[in-house]
Amino acid sequence: MIRRLCIIGVGLIGGSLARALRRAGAVGEVVGAGRNPQHLQQAQDLGVIDRWHTDLEAAVAGADMVVVCVPLGAMEAVFRAIAPALSDDAVLTDVGSAKGCVVAAARAAFGEVPPTLVPGHPIAGTEKSGVAASFAELFEGRRVILTPLPETDDHAHAQVRAMWEATGAEVVDMDVALHDEVLAATSHLPHILAFATVDSLARMHDHEEIFRYAAGGFRDFTRIAGSDPVMWRDICLYNREAILEVLQRFEADLARVTRAIREADGETLLELFRHAKAARDAHEAMLREAENNGVRGEE
Ligand code: NAP
Repeated sequence: MIRRLCIIGVGLIGGSLARALRRAGAVGEVVGAGRNPQHLQQAQDLGVIDRWHTDLEAAVAGADMVVVCVPLGAMEAVFRAIAPALSDDAVLTDVGSAKGCVVAAARAAFGEVPPTLVPGHPIAGTEKSGVAASFAELFEGRRVILTPLPETDDHAHAQVRAMWEATGAEVVDMDVALHDEVLAATSHLPHILAFATVDSLARMHDHEEIFRYAAGGFRDFTRIAGSDPVMWRDICLYNREAILEVLQRFEADLARVTRAIREADGETLLELFRHAKAARDAHEAMLREAENNGVRGEE
């Protein structure tokens, strides 16, 4: 049971976490914090938080759990702002989509990584943002990755694990660097490709005609290009190394496809499409099995 929870950044993820913990009866008071009074008041009106502050020091005072749910680019400034007021026994965690940069931000802001910091990342979300899009069921049957460090306090780690389990999520631990590599490949690359595809088509002079005839496949493939541009700019900037590595590999593979098409090399194309289809079918089967065991497919 969390006595006083402070959510910094009451948007889709922060709002959904507060709603889920309230629904589970796992939290006493919820204090919201951020920079926009109107959005925070909206969160209070929706019953997501009990009260709010734009002064982050005031917001974290007396909290036993502080969850930072702002875009990656704002993490260090938030850590710096709360450092003077955070009590020694308050557990600190975040939900950022990359983890190496959050650890670096904490080190820069606090001088060292606090033992009470347990970096985390819920593998759940939608292409919507803001508190109005938040809902209590978002994390049900989803995975949450925690990336504790050698200096992380066991009690803090257990508290954050229990918090996410109360939302209905399955919690797994992972090394920071491995997290950033895995997410670069499975989430960041597909989002970048979706944004780049839509942008490229939208720049074509006859794009209205093109979009008019775009079919279901286009819609499926590009749904995630409706995601928040600021969040995705930050992910690209703050998980840069891992993303560059996966992009370079992808560029080489795309060049192979281009060459096969140019050279009318049907054999290579068939082999590539068969290989991709088999991998996709196997992944689908794995997701179905996980769903049968109560873990939903990832975003
Ligand atoms: P969101 O709905 O846009 O919410 C972000 C919140 O952060 C808003 O309340 C915003 O307040 C606040 N904020 C933005 N910049 C700030 C700053 N400089 N100082 C203080 N508050 C600030 O975004 P989200 O989807 O919840 O994402 C939040 C975090 O979760 C990000 O780090 C993202 O990488 C991570 N994440 C997202 C997803 C996803 O699918 N969406 C999944 C997993 C993890 P305002 O009202 O003032 O704008």
